[in-house]
Amino acid sequence: MAAFYIGMDLGGTTFKALAVTPEGTILDRVQAPTEASQGPEAVVQRMVEAIRGLAARVTTAERRLRAVGFGVPGILELPQGIVRRSPNLPGWHDVELAALLRRALDVPFTLDNDANAATLGELWRGAARGKRDFFMLTLGTGVGGGVVVAGTILHGANGYAGELGHTVVDPHGPPCGCGSRGCLEQYASGTAIARMAEPFYGKTTAREVALAARRGEIPAQQLYRQVGYYLGIACASLANVFNPECLVLGGAVAQAFDLFAGSLRQTLRARSFGPIVDRLELVVAQCGTDAGGLGAAYQAMQAYPPAASSPRSQP
Ligand SMILES: [Zn+2]
Repeated sequence: MAAFYIGMDLGGTTFKALAVTPEGTILDRVQAPTEASQGPEAVVQRMVEAIRGLAARVTTAERRLRAVGFGVPGILELPQGIVRRSPNLPGWHDVELAALLRRALDVPFTLDNDANAATLGELWRGAARGKRDFFMLTLGTGVGGGVVVAGTILHGANGYAGELGHTVVDPHGPPCGCGSRGCLEQYASGTAIARMAEPFYGKTTAREVALAARRGEIPAQQLYRQVGYYLGIACASLANVFNPECLVLGGAVAQAFDLFAGSLRQTLRARSFGPIVDRLELVVAQCGTDAGGLGAAYQAMQAYPPAASSPRSQP
């Protein structure tokens, strides 16, 4: 009996699930509104219904659902699987998500935060294929991160490792939602770019600023160079910690990589050990919005391999 996996990427506005073969081929997909305001139980129920529907479409006489992986936004405590809080899921505090899923699902599953899932997606099917040591920054509304060491995602003591967006790049910088000041997220997220551009362009978006930079407008070009500078400060410190082979940049802001790559490289070179930065490859993510679902499926497959029946880890 062949196996397939489902990777569920839970977002603040929609959730997306992919049915994936052990080789990483996407068989089918489903997407639905999260409606987080209805509470965790309702969201879990809707996700489980979507998973059942998707599984029913993909199941054949020779192919059965082996396990489901979930990528969840916010502060997720492991191995208990408790969502401590989530900026994207208002009202979710100390939600025992693993316990809720265990009651609702009749297949094994794994849980991780969405940034770690996206990082694993790039490891399995994307820009970090074949890498053993790398880190990924997702530059979206916020800045998410994931760290892979010796082929394994870094969880730390309680599952909170990899909050790279809250690396401080200016101790006197603007306040951050995490309670600190001058975090990378305040300089390299789409939200931050729009904020920094406001004095020049009024209410705008990171994408519009990128278009302005490509038209040759100096303030927009300088702003993206500044993004590269702050990214470089954070990434130099992070690279010094664990000597990664590559840095994967994902999220909508990474589409403007050409606008900040130069200042990022320059700052990396100036602020980290030469041999470390000499070997550090900078690459743009390849899985797009499928990264989270692919990575969640990959994690489920690692824990529940196609042929084996004994799980290697519990969520
Ligand atoms: Zn912060």
